[in-house]
Amino acid sequence: SLTTGIVGLPNVGKSTLFNAITQAGAEMANYPFCTIEPNVGIVSVPDKRLDKLTEMYHPKKTIPTTFEFTDIAGLVKGASKGEGLGNQFLANIRQVDAISHVVRCFDDKNITHVSGKIDPIDDIETINLELILADMEQINKRLDRAEKLAKQKEKQAVIEFSALQKLKDAFDEGKPARHVALTDEEEIAVKPFNFLTKKPVLYVANISEDELLAPDDNVYVQAVKKYAEKDGSEVVVISARIESEIAELEGEEKKAFLLDLGLDTSGLDRLIAKSYQLLGLATYFTAGEKEVRAWTFRKGTKAPQAAGIIHSDFERGFIRAEIVSFDDLVAAGSELAAKEQGRLRLEGKDYIMQDGDVVNFRFNV
Ligand code: GDP
Repeated sequence: SLTTGIVGLPNVGKSTLFNAITQAGAEMANYPFCTIEPNVGIVSVPDKRLDKLTEMYHPKKTIPTTFEFTDIAGLVKGASKGEGLGNQFLANIRQVDAISHVVRCFDDKNITHVSGKIDPIDDIETINLELILADMEQINKRLDRAEKLAKQKEKQAVIEFSALQKLKDAFDEGKPARHVALTDEEEIAVKPFNFLTKKPVLYVANISEDELLAPDDNVYVQAVKKYAEKDGSEVVVISARIESEIAELEGEEKKAFLLDLGLDTSGLDRLIAKSYQLLGLATYFTAGEKEVRAWTFRKGTKAPQAAGIIHSDFERGFIRAEIVSFDDLVAAGSELAAKEQGRLRLEGKDYIMQDGDVVNFRFNV
């Protein structure tokens, strides 16, 4: 499944946030089928539609879909040169699909900052530079060989060399790979490099608990938002400390605590929602008397592959999908009523799944 890596300088609140994540997902971890690494936290994706479907179907159980966070602690200045086990951390980042970059936006004289002052932009640039340097090294390892092959007019090599040169120029200017315009062919050619700076980034501004109600008054948050806008990235403002308290609560208790804080959703839930967006993910549902369940798919997935997310047999023996959109189902009031109103669609193997589809897959075994 897809995962987002939590990175950031030391003492910015990563562990506090990650603890909140594992706490929130503690229940999930009890599922016998998932053995998870200590640095991976699995959380359920909050979805109001799931509550509505549960009301309609009265199932024995309701299962939300999940999302993974990987804690990548230890990234420091000089990581790309192998300092502080740097290379290992960079290798870990290579495995994730997106990056949640935690930035310290709280003042607390009791908690030291690695560079001695609170300066979120300087922090962000320190980490981003390490990522760029790591990518640069990848290029340097390959460039001579790519040039040699390109000179022999080998078509693939010409494309690769041209892409690597464009990227190298960008890195020299301190720009990440995700800002470099490449042709479709060039994109394919550089895919195996899995460049770190190609991954989408979400900045997580960690503020003090007493600033939660007016986060935009925080000058550090303002600076991060401005930076992110230029970067084409998004920002989520949280207080990691409060998140770890929220994560210990569930249901009504959690709602009451949030209300008390004057919030309507937890920062973690906002972080999950934004990460989901960032990764181009969507949700379909299966609903019946036994179980109502949410499933994650990548936008653009066709019906048989979406069925395969449940079980590979569903994909192999796919016949068709019976689909009603969540909105149509709710408007009709029941599956039967939706069918009578002609809202139940029969879709074939070329159907592209849509967010909110409520599905019944038909398949041969
Ligand atoms: P990491 O090194 O990035 O993993 O940072 P930690 O999560 O260990 O946090 C470093 C210190 O900052 C700890 O003492 C935390 O309690 C503190 N801290 C983290 N988040 C907050 C916050 O939202 N407000 C305040 N005041 N302190 C925090």
